[in-house]
Amino acid sequence: MLAGHVPVMLLYSRRRCEIIVGHLVYPEQTATAAPGRPVAEWAIVHGLAVRITWRTFRKEVSLMPEPSTEWLHRKRAERTIKNLEKNYMTGFYFPSSQEAVPKILEHIPQDSVVGLGDSMTLRQIGIITRLEGSNYHLLDPWKESSMEKRILIQRQVLLSDIFLVGTNAVTLNGELVNMDGRGNRVAAMIFGPKKVLVVAGVNKIVRDVEEGIERIKSIAGPANAKRHEFPEEVCPPCGVSGLCSDCRPPLTICCAQVVIRGQRRDRDRIKVFIIGEELGL
Ligand code: SF4
Repeated sequence: MLAGHVPVMLLYSRRRCEIIVGHLVYPEQTATAAPGRPVAEWAIVHGLAVRITWRTFRKEVSLMPEPSTEWLHRKRAERTIKNLEKNYMTGFYFPSSQEAVPKILEHIPQDSVVGLGDSMTLRQIGIITRLEGSNYHLLDPWKESSMEKRILIQRQVLLSDIFLVGTNAVTLNGELVNMDGRGNRVAAMIFGPKKVLVVAGVNKIVRDVEEGIERIKSIAGPANAKRHEFPEEVCPPCGVSGLCSDCRPPLTICCAQVVIRGQRRDRDRIKVFIIGEELGL
């Protein structure tokens, strides 16, 4: 980390899911965030210089990648995609979410029943808004405030035509690594929905399964525990300390640790869209 920079998660609370993970140059200016006013002049997001303005929070990140960074993202994505293909999954790479979203939508036929997994990446790239305004039957468990209804929708998602989801990690060897609390997300990735579309920023690419699990315990787990704003009595310890302490039920949100090593026959079922940006947790 560069001197003077701090890791931040910018979450503008009045707007659902507008979030950036990066290193702010002027962290103290986050307190003055307001529509039309810059939050901070510059941030380093996944090694890229990013000008932060209010528009950033509306999903329009003006990236100015150094050529070498874009090259690195592409190379890592290409290696991952090559190995996904060996594991009977299909991979695609797009340098930006603006380029990726229309291409992902091409894989979702009109009138499909589309189930959503809980994913910051999907919300960041704006695809859920696009789906809501179109001719799809959308199953979004996270819109339900009652737990009973949410679980009902999660069960319906298991029979959806398309399951749209993020991933905690994807390895250079072409494996998907995920950890779930209830297990509904990993269950749908493995079996049920006819097609699974996985969207991942380049920050989710890891060397191997071990590094993927390490990433979950050090980043995704604590950040998700914090994001869900659990009541104090049921909050996983990492949601308070920011550090994993390998907690156990009933507090843990790391119950189902799943590595998808491939599809047995249906090459067309799981498609992984890698985007050359830092996305999700
Ligand atoms: S503290 Fe518990 S919930 Fe948090 S990352 Fe570790 S095992 Fe998962």
